Amino acid sequence: MLKKGIICVVGLGFLAGCNSFDGLIEKKETLLGIPHSGKSTVPVATVVEDEVWKDFFEKESEVVVAPEEPEEEPATEEDSEEPADEEKPAEPEEPSEPEAIPVVANPGAMNVMVNKFWSLPEGYRPGDLIKPNVPFSFGDENSDRSKLRAEAAESLEVMFNVAKGEGIELYARSGFRSYETQEAIFKNEVATFGYEQAVLYVALPGTSEHQTGLAMDITAKSVGLELVEAFEGTAEGKWLAENAHHYGFILRYPKGKTNITGYAFEPWHFRYVGVEIAGEIYAKGLTFEEYMGDVREF
Ligand SMILES: [Zn+2]
Repeated sequence: MLKKGIICVVGLGFLAGCNSFDGLIEKKETLLGIPHSGKSTVPVATVVEDEVWKDFFEKESEVVVAPEEPEEEPATEEDSEEPADEEKPAEPEEPSEPEAIPVVANPGAMNVMVNKFWSLPEGYRPGDLIKPNVPFSFGDENSDRSKLRAEAAESLEVMFNVAKGEGIELYARSGFRSYETQEAIFKNEVATFGYEQAVLYVALPGTSEHQTGLAMDITAKSVGLELVEAFEGTAEGKWLAENAHHYGFILRYPKGKTNITGYAFEPWHFRYVGVEIAGEIYAKGLTFEEYMGDVREF
């Protein structure tokens, strides 16, 4: 029963687009005191998966329908002398609060990696956000979503202008998104659909790459200015896939790499990493995780 639930939930999670159901294994890792450096040598999936999802589903019972049971307290360094499977009373938990995902040490770096295993600091907001002079799907609006960090914004502008010169008309649709906005979206989703659904379809605060100010969702009139997989087959989508690296952008969630990125194919989501890194990633056909040497397959 539980195993089926795990498979189902993981499968759905990969369809979550720019969103995320993360925080579960990471939380457990944190509680267990397992380090998070580089490639994990800990067989997380086999050692803690059942625990993780058991914990998840039991916790979710507060907002869904399953009967409440005391949670199993995982072993920590502090209580490692006690039997690991000792039952303890459940501690009150707020299901709508994000889980403790390890926080990156370099949130302001152009090569910062944010994914289901690494989050940005709570409230992190780049200090150099500007609005690039490009067409937006929502028109002229001086909002967060129209902004990127200066270096990325300037490069985006160049890319859009070059594309236009080649008859490719691109539209920016979603740039920076604040921690607070992501948190509000997440909480609203929880209030509407319950934690279990929310965590599947909306990224936990701190784990959206849009919070870096280095990611832009790009679309075109050929797909009604929407963010859809069909963008891949359009002239605009193809142009971006082939040329974005010249301007320092990578296709962050490539097709067929869900097991590495944790996200479904997103032909519209481009991430600025700088020309040098983007060129290498493009030439070698890598994901950002592979380039950074921090792959933890799902
Ligand atoms: Zn995106």
